[in-house]
Amino acid sequence: MMRIDRVEIYRAEMPMKVPFRIAIGTTEVSQSLFVRIATDAGHVGVGEANLFTPVVGETLDTAWQAAALLGRLLIGADPLDIEGRVAAMQRALPFNTTTRSAFDMALWDILGKAANLPLFAVLGGQRRAVLTDNTVGIDTPDRMAERAAAHKARGFRVVKVKLGEAVATDVERLRRIRAAVGPGYALRIDANQGWSRIDARHALAALAAFDPEFCEQPLARWDIDGLAALQKVSPIPIMADESVFDAHDALRLVQNAACDHMNIKLAKSGGIHTALKIDAIAEAGGLSCMIGCMTESGIGLSAAVHLASARRNIAFADLDGADMLAVDPVAGGFTYTAGGELLPSTRPGLGVEIAPAFLAQLPGTIIA
Ligand code: MG
Repeated sequence: MMRIDRVEIYRAEMPMKVPFRIAIGTTEVSQSLFVRIATDAGHVGVGEANLFTPVVGETLDTAWQAAALLGRLLIGADPLDIEGRVAAMQRALPFNTTTRSAFDMALWDILGKAANLPLFAVLGGQRRAVLTDNTVGIDTPDRMAERAAAHKARGFRVVKVKLGEAVATDVERLRRIRAAVGPGYALRIDANQGWSRIDARHALAALAAFDPEFCEQPLARWDIDGLAALQKVSPIPIMADESVFDAHDALRLVQNAACDHMNIKLAKSGGIHTALKIDAIAEAGGLSCMIGCMTESGIGLSAAVHLASARRNIAFADLDGADMLAVDPVAGGFTYTAGGELLPSTRPGLGVEIAPAFLAQLPGTIIA
């Protein structure tokens, strides 16, 4: 049996190109925990936990403590028994999904390296280009229209627009953006829980004129009844995001016919193991999924790209996190192609390593 014999944990603060504002908070500096899991067979798996506190409730400090606990839990255990390792981590830390996701993806990385297969192949899938949008954060309608036009000019074929404030302002934002990108260009919107039930009905009725392909999370994360009622009258398809962390949430959304799509993020699901279950439940309920992100570097994004490549029911991607960073400290795992597509690496596992020079300058701890 292969055994985990060392876990390294590092914490990083990564500057953003511009502060990223959404209805529930602003990211000034992106915060990640990087994990390296080493085995007695010589394989090393890598993972990333990118902390967006307003959604997951974890901070860089709580993740640092939680990761040390998970590291001690994993020492001596079999990394290839991902089912067993994930169950133990869920029992130990049921709510710390983002911290757990770093360990989950590192275990899948080890499995890929042990099998000498890229992760999309380990997952039973094909190498496909994953078309991502690029997001415009909340700002004045003028500046948002400028940013949307800039994304289009850089070759992105889809723009996601953050809304969720006063309905009249949100309508003006999307009106200006539609005018800036022109008719027929793909737009999607995300209210990040910012609207009341009544606001959401008015907003979606008015925003339909600007033809967004769907609206993410119009209501508070807990309001599944409200979402189901809204979905029945909305002229715009509804995607659940903050309402779906795990397989139980996905099942409840399907049972309540509360949405048309689900947004899977590894930082919410605790990694790939549960993400696969969410996608399977969505698919069984006739819903398709998006793969989203926080503001991860190339490590966290590469896990998402491999997963999306391997699952055809993941029909949309919002994997722009690394593009929002002033500098992505990690390269590899996937390549950008023209038109905002991400193509997973063909190297074993995630196909990405963290440069030793980058890690050497970070606060870190080793559990052995
Ligand atoms: Mg969202």
